[in-house]
Amino acid sequence: MTVVDIPELVVDGRPVPTEDSLTVVNPATGTPLGTCPVATPELLERAVSAAVRAGTAWAGDPTARTDALRAMADVITENRDRLARSLSLETGVPLRDTTLEAAGAAAFAHYRASTPPPVDRIHDDTRQRVSVHRARIGVVGAIIPWNAPLLISTEKISTAFAAGNTVVVKPSPLAPLTTLLLGSLLAEHLPPGVLTVLPGGDSLGRALVAHPGVGMISFTGSTEAGRAIMAAAADRLKRLSLELGGNDAAIVLPDVDVRKVARKVFQGAFYRGGQVCAAIKRLYVHADVFESFTAALAEQAQATVVGDPFDDAVTMGPISNRPQFERVRELVASAVRDGGILRAGEQAGDGPGYFHRPTLITGLRADHKLVAGEQFGPVLPVLPFKDIEEAVRAANDTDYGLGGSVWTSDITLGESVAVRLDAGSVWVNRHGVVSPEVPFGGAKQSGVGRANGSPGIDQYSELKTVSISLPSTRT
Ligand code: NAD
Repeated sequence: MTVVDIPELVVDGRPVPTEDSLTVVNPATGTPLGTCPVATPELLERAVSAAVRAGTAWAGDPTARTDALRAMADVITENRDRLARSLSLETGVPLRDTTLEAAGAAAFAHYRASTPPPVDRIHDDTRQRVSVHRARIGVVGAIIPWNAPLLISTEKISTAFAAGNTVVVKPSPLAPLTTLLLGSLLAEHLPPGVLTVLPGGDSLGRALVAHPGVGMISFTGSTEAGRAIMAAAADRLKRLSLELGGNDAAIVLPDVDVRKVARKVFQGAFYRGGQVCAAIKRLYVHADVFESFTAALAEQAQATVVGDPFDDAVTMGPISNRPQFERVRELVASAVRDGGILRAGEQAGDGPGYFHRPTLITGLRADHKLVAGEQFGPVLPVLPFKDIEEAVRAANDTDYGLGGSVWTSDITLGESVAVRLDAGSVWVNRHGVVSPEVPFGGAKQSGVGRANGSPGIDQYSELKTVSISLPSTRT
């Protein structure tokens, strides 16, 4: 039974019937929410052709694009509750947090509406005028993960539009509904072909990457898929933005106010059930405060109300889908098998629904997969260290490099440790704070390029140098 609005597929301004569909499951109950239309390769062809046709007029009309970005911010704001409800149904994230996600998405669109791409004047004198403009790339293929589909889709669409591109979006088959809803809400504010949302599986994503009409792939998802996309894009030297997985370390120094900082660190690790790219995924705590800090975290875990995302008292919903639920359960079981000590949480959650209490594990070796890999769920390994050198070494001993944080009362010391962490973003006394004007992205195997702020625009543009020799009569 369908319990959520599922819009039709619209390609080139017209609704299109589809034969294929996929079932979207409510993670809070484990039962179907409804069926979502799935795009065929033929529809992908039509969508890319429409995006190419719409491209020239769209790129040439910055006023229309600014108006569209403003409309996008307004439409998201006006439909905030509907979008948040759809997000909570398909991801299980509490309504309070999906409402924040919708507000954040509107803020991203608003930022791009109010921040036109700059023109850099390199020389402007009697002899020459040399400037750098941001020119469109063409059609951007945007590929979205399941964990924050509205925010990630909006960030990609609005940046691509600001730089003059048209967009074909492929959401995750595990959470496609809100992105499809966003596309249908925006349709009346955009020229046909400028934005198409095409739900489908990994194979549709591969077809989008391979399509010769697509000039750039903006991908957010796992490092493994990012590698495959980079290899496939090499054929035509496609432009790439890769926002990939992370294994963020947080380092807690011994001078902290234990209870206060434990509350914030817990949020940094378990917000949205840890299903956040830049969540704290490994925690290093100085030996002097290790026991008291772990006990304070365990109190936070016990106080967490896990349950129905539509219940106001609930602070953590279910894990967003069955494959991820099973992965997390297996990680916890293997940690316990390998000598890890459960300090809070559970070894196995029971259905219905993919609920899993926030889980803390101590006593693991650095090479255990829960420490060395990305769990992307409500389980956190906590490890002791004796001196800062040891903590920095451990934090950097990974192929990932998305984020990291340092927690201390000594801001100067905190900053000096922060600059030594090999990551795209490092926070001091906070973690995972992201906003539209601040560059964000991964070092090492956590990504290629930076989203947000002016690096975000550069990534979705061709930098075009215009160099003019001025007549010698000019004074
Ligand atoms: P995923 O890589 O399995 O899938 C992401 C998307 O890519 C889906 O739409 C999928 O259908 C598509 N896809 C998969 N293989 C593909 C291929 N070879 N070619 C083209 N498309 C392909 O990731 P997921 O499980 O949906 O998301 C979780 C991951 O995303 C985590 O690793 C998380 O850290 C990461 N993530 C990163 C950021 C960031 O900003 N760095 C943000 C959110 C999530």
